[in-house]
Amino acid sequence: MATAGVKRILIVGGGSAGWLCAAYLAKALGGVQIRLVEAPEVGAIGVGEGSFPSLRSTLAALGISEARFVRDCGATFKQGIVFRDWVRGDDAYLHPFSLPSQRPGAPELLPYWLRGLAGDTPFAEAVTLQAAVVAAARGPKHAGDPPYQGALNYAYHFDAARFAALLAAHARALGVTHLQDHVEGAQLDAAGQIACVHTRQHGALEADLYIDCSGFRALLIGAALQAPFHSVADTLFCDSALAVQVPYPQPDAPIASATISSARTAGWIWDIGLQERRGIGYVYSSRHTDDEAAARVLRSYAGSAAEDLALRKIPMRLGYRRQQWIGNCVAIGLAGGFVEPLEASGIGLVETAVQMLAALFPHNGEMAPAARHFNAFMTARYAGIVDFLKLHYCLSQRRDSAFWSDNADPASWTPALRDKLAMWRCRPPQRLDFLTDVEMYPPSSWQFVLYGMGFPRAMPDSPGLAAQAAAAQAEFANLAKLAPHAAAGLPAHRELVAALCARAV
Ligand SMILES: Cc1cc2nc3c(=O)[nH]c(=O)nc-3n(C[C@H](O)[C@H](O)[C@H](O)COP(=O)(O)OP(=O)(O)OC[C@H]3O[C@@H](n4cnc5c(N)ncnc54)[C@H](O)[C@@H]3O)c2cc1C
Repeated sequence: MATAGVKRILIVGGGSAGWLCAAYLAKALGGVQIRLVEAPEVGAIGVGEGSFPSLRSTLAALGISEARFVRDCGATFKQGIVFRDWVRGDDAYLHPFSLPSQRPGAPELLPYWLRGLAGDTPFAEAVTLQAAVVAAARGPKHAGDPPYQGALNYAYHFDAARFAALLAAHARALGVTHLQDHVEGAQLDAAGQIACVHTRQHGALEADLYIDCSGFRALLIGAALQAPFHSVADTLFCDSALAVQVPYPQPDAPIASATISSARTAGWIWDIGLQERRGIGYVYSSRHTDDEAAARVLRSYAGSAAEDLALRKIPMRLGYRRQQWIGNCVAIGLAGGFVEPLEASGIGLVETAVQMLAALFPHNGEMAPAARHFNAFMTARYAGIVDFLKLHYCLSQRRDSAFWSDNADPASWTPALRDKLAMWRCRPPQRLDFLTDVEMYPPSSWQFVLYGMGFPRAMPDSPGLAAQAAAAQAEFANLAKLAPHAAAGLPAHRELVAALCARAV
């Protein structure tokens, strides 16, 4: 049923999701009152330090300067993820953010890499300069490059609490009203929509549209509206995390320019280098290990610098709601869903959701068509991410624990992933394998993981292939020659970060 229009928005929750929504909608929508209510005593989850390259255009759209973001959030540059020990327990490969090089007129390199024209050079090294730059701990850009642009594709690592604080200050400056109060529940109207939200001090708060950013609690979409939760626990086993923040041994220690993800017997460890500390966490399956054993694994990785530091336990509920928009309520962030942080999709999903909400915004109050579209799109996006994450586990050759053997069991793969892997046994992944508009990870990401993990190379013959072989071989040689210069020509990562901080006014 159409109402007079959507003029009042109430956001419940002030974590990264709530404040990103508030700032983005304040910038995108005119003539709409936006209020955000959060309970300071509940607090935000405070993790989520790795991002996706899309954050650059989101921050630019918000009008936040890159230098200010880097300074205020203790941020550093992320050029991809280095996966250690994922294949056999003694290996490493890079999933870079830069796409495989393809100069105008030059051939796509993947078919020729599959045919062995780059010899034994790993895929990411053969087709991008980014592997060399990451190995040398260099930044992806020069300090003087235009904001949010660089020679190589990049995202950021940042302090999650400082990120939410920056977004909050920015949203308030854009006119968002901030209420600190505890939401006790929501009241539904006769049509089953939210009539108001009850708070301890401000009483009943009414709006035309409610955005649930209350995190895993899902106060509106879950507790009030009872949207079913689609668990993916049978596919993705890691349901717990232990985290710690470890200072650098000295203030000028080099900063890694990729997330480092190290596989362990019951999960994997993230290692994220910020300006003043590293964020380290063990993501593990409680069905395959216990908290004490997990703590030993994390402490052994973090070493003496973390000896006296307390570990923080974070339970994770993996899955999503297929109905994230019901009536006059949209769930964004952990309230809508969460799949484990292996490829840092959380904030990226928040960006996607809020951009969609702004684009589909039901100005006239007609919510249902927009809600159906939003739900179909977000469900497809979550499903694609689940498959992409599972790919990392099911390609592993590790059999040193039940965790890895269980992951290798095709019964734990989704039918869509089983189909993809079956097709790719005779040819590589390509664009038409994906509904690209709803994919978080481009086809090249699947290729980097697939071939980084040693999936059998298969490239069927085609009449055109031989014609460009010499050009492809020349391009491989060119990239190999340029890689050391690219690394040497870019600033050390810490130097780049310091230069940007100095520039922030
Ligand atoms: C272990 C782990 C690692 C992660 N790593 C990454 C990563 O590397 N990259 C990435 O992109 N994402 C990551 N994520 C996901 C990321 O943390 C979240 O997507 C992001 O922080 C958004 O969280 P949120 O704002 O939805 O929820 P939260 O941060 O939990 O915020 C919830 C808000 O709701 C408020 N609230 C709750 N109850 C009430 C109440 N009764 N009344 C009023 N207010 C209330 C709280 O005060 C808080 O402000 C990770 C998640 C986990 C669990």
